[in-house]
Amino acid sequence: MKIIFYGVRGSIPTSSAETIKYGGHTACLFAEVDNKLLIFDAGTGIRKLGNDLINDLRDIHLFFSHYHWDHIQGFPFFKPAYQSGRNIHLLAAYLPRKNVKAVLDQMADPHFPVPGDQIQAKVSVMPMDEEDNVQLEKTKITTCALNHPGGGAAYRVETKEGCFAYITDNELDPPHHLNTTWEQWVEFLQGVDLLIHDAMYLDDELSGIHGWGHSLISQTMQLAKDANVAHLVLFHHDPDRHDKALDRILKDCQQWMKKVCANCTVTMAKEGDVYQIIKSVVQLN
Ligand SMILES: [Zn+2]
Ligand SMILES: [Zn+2]
Repeated sequence: MKIIFYGVRGSIPTSSAETIKYGGHTACLFAEVDNKLLIFDAGTGIRKLGNDLINDLRDIHLFFSHYHWDHIQGFPFFKPAYQSGRNIHLLAAYLPRKNVKAVLDQMADPHFPVPGDQIQAKVSVMPMDEEDNVQLEKTKITTCALNHPGGGAAYRVETKEGCFAYITDNELDPPHHLNTTWEQWVEFLQGVDLLIHDAMYLDDELSGIHGWGHSLISQTMQLAKDANVAHLVLFHHDPDRHDKALDRILKDCQQWMKKVCANCTVTMAKEGDVYQIIKSVVQLN
């Protein structure tokens, strides 16, 4: 299976010489799995993804972690939404079902000239089973509730080739009620080859942001170690975090993994990076 990062930034897009290496678009991940097109979140990165998919008319399965702006704001500029004959299946687990098309509501007047109910693609909601999971032929997608203001969903995608998990906007140790405990996350991640997880803040930033629904990089690292994940990608970068700082943090993280003798490769999510999972081996091309 192939996974491509189209947007890696949290909260708001950023465009500057200092953020050009890792990229400034907000959350959007593309995965081609068992001949199916899967997209996770529709941040501003989805605009380019839409351009890349314009001649690929297969159905699109669009999974939302939640509906905060940085995860939906690219959708009005997603060209496949304006193609008649295109099928787009949406899913936002752990959010009220009646709001599942909230991504279209952002296009209402006076925010956008084309109302969401006038796009040409046929939009439907993906059915889930009783345990809030989805089976797309050979691909099994399981979900878990995020620790984030307003809630949201983590996704685990499993095929014969391997398994990855997409967990963003998740606070591993929040000061308020926990939807999912540390132990439950470790269990959810058993057998995952590639983990993409929120890693927005540094330890010394905690006092200002505790309860905002994001993880410390150190917590995300510990989770990958505890869950024996083979490859961790640090995701949802703070918009004020410049490339040089991300380079430094990545080095520290790699050294930490070595120090604790964890057999886990760590990389920083970077726009345009393509990962392959073949027979449970992760490659960054
Ligand atoms: Zn976010
Ligand atoms: Zn959020």
